[in-house]
Amino acid sequence: MWQPFLRRSLPKVGLRWQHRSAAVEVANEPVLGFARGSPERDALQKALADLKGRTEAIPCVVGGEEVWTKDVRYQVSPFNHAHKVAKYCYADQALLDRAIQAALAARRDWDLRPPQDRAQVFFKAADLLSGPRRMELLAKTMLGQGKTVIQAEIDAAAELIDFFRFNAKYALELEGEQPLSVAPSTNRMVYRGLEGFVAAVSPFNFTAIGGNLAGAPALMGNVVLWKPSDTAILSSAAVYRVLLEAGLPPDVIQFVPSDGPVFGDTVTASEHLCGINFTGSVPTFKRLWKQVSENLDRYRTFPRLAGECGGKNFHFVHASADVSSVVSGTLRSAFEFGGQKCSACSRLYAPESLWPRIKDGLLEEHPKIRVGDPTEDFGTFFSAVIDHKAFERIRKWLDHAKTSPNISVLAGGQCDDSVGFFVQPCVLQTKDPLDPIMQEEIFGPVLSVYVYPDKEYKDILQLVDRTSPYGLTGAVFAQDKDVVAEASKILRNAAGNFYINDKSTGSVVAQQPFGGSRHSGTNDKPGSRNYILRWTSPQAIKETHAPLGDWRYPYMQ
Ligand code: NAD
Repeated sequence: MWQPFLRRSLPKVGLRWQHRSAAVEVANEPVLGFARGSPERDALQKALADLKGRTEAIPCVVGGEEVWTKDVRYQVSPFNHAHKVAKYCYADQALLDRAIQAALAARRDWDLRPPQDRAQVFFKAADLLSGPRRMELLAKTMLGQGKTVIQAEIDAAAELIDFFRFNAKYALELEGEQPLSVAPSTNRMVYRGLEGFVAAVSPFNFTAIGGNLAGAPALMGNVVLWKPSDTAILSSAAVYRVLLEAGLPPDVIQFVPSDGPVFGDTVTASEHLCGINFTGSVPTFKRLWKQVSENLDRYRTFPRLAGECGGKNFHFVHASADVSSVVSGTLRSAFEFGGQKCSACSRLYAPESLWPRIKDGLLEEHPKIRVGDPTEDFGTFFSAVIDHKAFERIRKWLDHAKTSPNISVLAGGQCDDSVGFFVQPCVLQTKDPLDPIMQEEIFGPVLSVYVYPDKEYKDILQLVDRTSPYGLTGAVFAQDKDVVAEASKILRNAAGNFYINDKSTGSVVAQQPFGGSRHSGTNDKPGSRNYILRWTSPQAIKETHAPLGDWRYPYMQ
């Protein structure tokens, strides 16, 4: 059954890499369709059936050994919280210290390995994910994080495979980037890993992000402590196993689920911390940054801090826009994965002239959105939100909307956590464009709309720019080219990923490298060559091939 995937997915990339400056050919992983009767649909259904009712035991892995502590926890399925999908344990401070030591002991050998060897591990891991491990990881992502088939496929298969292959390609091509040599000397650049260990801290919402946060520094010769999210343990452990299966030496990445603050406190207290690779919320990243600055005197090297954080992403609609693109793009962007993408659209600015048609479109489609168990019903558009904490946070926002005189609920917003953490897609209209609901990240299936007079669109573009502290993604819908040009200028700093007549979500590795600035993060653009540069400390080496001769300069004589 796996042969077709396997054959197609083996790019033999390593073999094509002939000499230092050669370009390495890789392509984006094709996204499978899972149509009724397709082999991939059957395979996925089988993988889901295999996991049904099961609880997988997931230990910490430190120094290549599986370790259980007494602090045992469970990850539950968001759409059926009676199902414990994983039993795992928190690494305590002592175990984290052991993990740091084990990682440091492995650092020298790993860093000295030829880059081609390190890259091969990631090409192999990508091939395993593309072939024999694909369905297991999709099923675990669906069950553990509540993703639908397509959301799991674009994340745990396509994006993760792309991260591994493109990062490896960029790393190999970097070896070809060498300085000028002028006779009688030759110069070269050695791309070393950073000196110390990197702490990788991942969020729940993308299986691919966890693999990339730990994987990219490892590829570049670093050793890593990987703290996965409590609500993505099942899929993160599967990714970790794929890396080991692909030949990653066991000590290069230490797999240490742990309490967030305990992990943060322990790694930032170590003199050997050389980098933090974080994706998650702003408060967590700020806390880590502050801890690093407080501990600055104790570090052996300045730690590199990479953080991709939240967003308050916008769709700005001009009177010249195509209404059907606005409606379909907004429904997908706002509600796919329950609005739990950092790029999800959560504020829509609509001109008065188009609003009746946009509103009709949204409200006509709204009842067709199926919210449920994505493993039983493949027609589900999105599922439950990730956990009880998220459910309560979103419910509070909905209570605010229901009680605010400025906001009307146009559709949805019902909440029910009796079986899973279900929130129905909600469309709100606000009279106040600066209501907190237009400014703060909600991270749930809630879309807020502000309707503006057409002729004020330039002022509204300024308003879009200054309304939220974030700068992650945003889209402008307009057929008028002058408006697009003007919006692009005014919103230049409002989004690290800017879309024209397209929804604000769905970036693809190497096509739309992702990330934002302002409070959305350090914008290091995972999915581009820029990203791997964060995880190397280049050494320039000059070698002279002729004796120096006289120490005096000619002009001195
Ligand atoms: P979170 O900040 O709650 O958690 C992220 C990770 O940090 C988790 O592993 C958590 O356990 C850990 N953590 C918590 N406290 C910590 C501490 N004191 N020290 C060290 N680690 C700690 O975020 P989340 O709910 O998992 O993810 C959602 C957030 O992530 C949203 O804000 C979303 O926008 C953002 N996100 C951003 C991007 C991006 O590329 N910009 C991508 C995905 C998610």
